[in-house]
Amino acid sequence: MSFEADFDSEVTAADGHWIIGVVGSRLLMSEVDQSFLLPHDYLRKAFPVAPQECLYLGRWQNVPCFAFIYSPELEIPPTSGLVSGGLRSRLGMVADELFSLGGRAQQLAHWYEFHRYCGRCGGATQLELHERVLACPHCGALYYPRIAPCVIGIVLREQTCLLAHNANFREGLYSVIAGFIEPGETAEQALVREIREETGIKVERLEYICSQPWPFPSQLMLGFVAHYKSGEIQVDGVEITDANWFPPNALPQVPPPRTISGKLIDVFLQRVGAQG
Ligand SMILES: [Zn+2]
Repeated sequence: MSFEADFDSEVTAADGHWIIGVVGSRLLMSEVDQSFLLPHDYLRKAFPVAPQECLYLGRWQNVPCFAFIYSPELEIPPTSGLVSGGLRSRLGMVADELFSLGGRAQQLAHWYEFHRYCGRCGGATQLELHERVLACPHCGALYYPRIAPCVIGIVLREQTCLLAHNANFREGLYSVIAGFIEPGETAEQALVREIREETGIKVERLEYICSQPWPFPSQLMLGFVAHYKSGEIQVDGVEITDANWFPPNALPQVPPPRTISGKLIDVFLQRVGAQG
């Protein structure tokens, strides 16, 4: 493992440490190679601006790593050698673990930005020293980083899989079905519901495969394989504009293999390959 998550309020950022700079929903990146994991001394010289807050993330290759949170309105001087870029553009371009570390910085910055004031009494919150929580000194409310669990699943039917085109996708792109878990639901119930609502298909025999943090802004995707039970495809024409059963040799454009959708499609390909 290159990254070790921990919490230590004693360690402070210094030269020799790694920094991920967060500006609103974007990261500071080197103009040359779009690297977002920046050495502290390099950042200090290239971009001598004090961050609003500095959050310890853990250790990357045994070296302390921090998120520097800047004002979302911050302008980056063109002479700094830095640009701001979306983390999503680095998916598949950097190791998964480094992408996850960027996502950790992005999600914690989002949490900090959205909980600087107490949702109950409106008072200013403070970072606690003993754990990663924003506390309201006026009413005692605590705000931990929030993660929104989502389910995502590929439906298998004989030698085909179910893929859908979402109205927000670029033309020709199809993916597996995904949605948020609602209060009171298990992950399995949520996936059965989402697939039924979005495609009209009933599924059974869910198998958990893997999970992936998806920091846009703070989802955790829980990936499943599901098996066809009954029903005919029926889409709403608004959110989902098309869905179909695809055989392995005639897949449409699908998300890249680094995404959890791509991984679930790989599971389908391996299984049908293994069968025949
Ligand atoms: Zn309060």
